[in-house]
Amino acid sequence: MSEITKPNYLPKIIDSHAHLDFPEFDVDRDVLFQSMKKVGIQTVIIPGVSPEHWDKQHQIATQYSCPYALGIHPWFSDKQFPNALSELDKRINDSVHDPRFVAIGECGLDKLHKSDWEVQILVLEHQLMLAESLNLPVILHVVKAHNEIMPLLKRYKLARGGVIHGFYGSIELATEYVKLGYKLGIGGLILNSDARKLKDCITKIPTNSIIIETDSPAMSPKSSLVKRNTPLILPLIIDEIAKLQKKSSVLITERMFDNAMQLFDL
Ligand SMILES: [Zn+2]
Repeated sequence: MSEITKPNYLPKIIDSHAHLDFPEFDVDRDVLFQSMKKVGIQTVIIPGVSPEHWDKQHQIATQYSCPYALGIHPWFSDKQFPNALSELDKRINDSVHDPRFVAIGECGLDKLHKSDWEVQILVLEHQLMLAESLNLPVILHVVKAHNEIMPLLKRYKLARGGVIHGFYGSIELATEYVKLGYKLGIGGLILNSDARKLKDCITKIPTNSIIIETDSPAMSPKSSLVKRNTPLILPLIIDEIAKLQKKSSVLITERMFDNAMQLFDL
């Protein structure tokens, strides 16, 4: 049994990336937040996705006191992007004094998605500029585009860096991001028995370079222990990281909490 399930130890856990505003959670969001509290999950950071999502995202973040990010996901970088970007500027202007508004994103590049590549780059660069001018961290979605995003991250040197969310890659790639001041968001993929490259990376990466996330409801791990991807799977992710890093789950829990608090200045 892991330390975090022992009855008299209540850990402090943050899910650094969960879309709890999505309709998948409409049926049982209250129950989910209550269950999260019981196992020590203090809060989740709700990333922004597209202008159509921001109203509900803000409403859920307010109702459950969650920090949130504002941004446009590469999947939603379409022909309407000039409008979307000006709406983003306006929304950020209205939120800039809200202490719960903690980051720009999620934004990034996704080569597996059909949205226009040039548009993806324009939309990402606009958000990197926003992060730079507002001195905020960025939440990055990077799929098959590490070689393309790296020069952009070198050009826009963000003082507060950010996170490569849902990271899956080698220790060499991870080290390049860490050198640029970014953390790696480790989620349910680490529970997959065939995630060899990622598991190897976690055995070698410094503990202060990672934060934990679930990306709920997406990216459900293939583990038989997980029926549905919610922040409630975080203790499993913590146990796996602890095992790979040969540290206690208590220590990893504390370090993951501190890393998220520090990155997002919570
Ligand atoms: Zn996401």
